[in-house]
Amino acid sequence: MTSPLIVLAKIRNAGGSVSVVDQDLEVSAPPGLLDDEDRSLLAKYKHDLVKVLAPSYETQEREAIQWESSAPDDEVATALELAREEWQEYVLEDPIPCSTCGEIVAWWDSWGNRHCQACDPPRTPGGKLTCSRT
Ligand SMILES: [Zn+2]
Repeated sequence: MTSPLIVLAKIRNAGGSVSVVDQDLEVSAPPGLLDDEDRSLLAKYKHDLVKVLAPSYETQEREAIQWESSAPDDEVATALELAREEWQEYVLEDPIPCSTCGEIVAWWDSWGNRHCQACDPPRTPGGKLTCSRT
């Protein structure tokens, strides 16, 4: 899931701005930058974003400075890191080809060892026991 912070970063990177006016989000972004998902995220987290961007009148300026400098960068970096990990875990699970034949189809034995499907196919059930060739 995309974080609303990523949407904020996207807006700011494009030269736009997000501010709070009368407890409402005022988004200024280049035409066509935000898609429907971005807009619905901003709408969904509007309440939180308003709180973060304008927690109170007295601390508004200080919080805005913090928001602009350190904290959101960390949060965006964390969110991006998490997204990268999920991406690698679910999508980019890199198959390591067999060093002998290049086959990427592999199987794992009950010891957790990886075997090439082509060079070292799993023993058929009931087959005779053989020593490991590693
Ligand atoms: Zn192989």
